[in-house]
Amino acid sequence: MSIPFQLLITEGYLNEILNHAKEEFPCECCGVLGGRFEARQGEKIGVVSTIYKLENSLKSEIEFLSSSESMLKAVKELRQKGEEMLVVYHSHPVSFPKMSKKDLEMIDGTNLLHLIVGNVKTIPEFGLWWVNEQKKAIPCNFILDNPS
Ligand SMILES: [Zn+2]
Repeated sequence: MSIPFQLLITEGYLNEILNHAKEEFPCECCGVLGGRFEARQGEKIGVVSTIYKLENSLKSEIEFLSSSESMLKAVKELRQKGEEMLVVYHSHPVSFPKMSKKDLEMIDGTNLLHLIVGNVKTIPEFGLWWVNEQKKAIPCNFILDNPS
């Protein structure tokens, strides 16, 4: 199995994720991105259309756990809009956006991509990952959409 789809995202959504990370600083933020799948030149593309900010119930600087209440609300809204869950995102307030051992342990399934924003208050950096069946994090590139 390989990377399930390519992610198409606008700078606006990346900024919203970074702002969410700044609001929760020094704790980790978390959320999900909803959208739709499209086929372009034989490639499966996940086009982001909504950001759902979730609550980190651990209120921790080094890990996150999406509260089940905020996750249920997001899943309900996703269904109502006919969206797919594409990405789970979180922040690494003062470190690089690499999947930690704990991040890998928490992941269940291979359908989603994982977006991390790191070094939130210094030089923010995004990392996009897919985790395979062997729990290995594979780096992915996102496609920046330029709405004009
Ligand atoms: Zn993490």
